[in-house]
Amino acid sequence: MTDVDGLRARLASVRDRIRRAAERCGRDPRSVLLLAVSKTKPSEEVLAAYAAGQRCFGESYAQELVDKAEALSELADLEWHFVGRLQSNKAKLVASRAAVVHAVDSERLARELGKRAEGRARPLDVLVEVNVGGEATKGGVDPVALEPVLRAIEAIPSLRLRGLMSIPPHTGEPEASRPFHRALAALRAAHGGAGRLRDLSMGMTDDLEIAIDEGATIVRVGTAIFGPRAPRG
Ligand SMILES: *Cc1c(COP(=O)(O)O)cnc(C)c1O
Repeated sequence: MTDVDGLRARLASVRDRIRRAAERCGRDPRSVLLLAVSKTKPSEEVLAAYAAGQRCFGESYAQELVDKAEALSELADLEWHFVGRLQSNKAKLVASRAAVVHAVDSERLARELGKRAEGRARPLDVLVEVNVGGEATKGGVDPVALEPVLRAIEAIPSLRLRGLMSIPPHTGEPEASRPFHRALAALRAAHGGAGRLRDLSMGMTDDLEIAIDEGATIVRVGTAIFGPRAPRG
């Protein structure tokens, strides 16, 4: 059963963390979008968060996003963001339901998404995932190969380039992610700044304060809102 009161309290506490972090560094708290990452959690919990005022939700698995979007399709202002690693053969599913895709990391995937987004009423917003940690096992564009991917997206009418995203190496020590957040902000500055790349999607449950301090405009928060996730089996 959904613990509506608990969820409401956790959501309020995350909003409070965002507000205090923004105020500490002289930013307007409204310049930071809270994306509630609801992957593995049932649509009842999404609905409870929606009732508490949350509007943007992140999912990592294409079919799960589609299933929840269908279950909650009467909530017209609920916005789905796909934050996972997207395989080309799932682009159609995601383009049919998501407003934003956070982890585009190749020209090939951009073209596939562009094709699948052609029938949409509005362009599909996309962010480019950058592999700021240089980790071989992770997705994301190598920083030196970023520009061609940005240009490819800008050339596709059904897509709208919205910004950059990263998932720094996980260490359990929030401060350890600061250099990676700073590197993503520097990449934005080097590739046209906020005029071209409006959003920086960085920061999760453990390090959202650090990310906001380094300029995040979207923080992706799962655990602090919905509680721990069961391992995916
Ligand atoms: C799961 C996930 C999150 C949320 O992580 P938490 O540590 O639970 O806040 C954020 N971003 C991405 C890409 C994720 O897959």
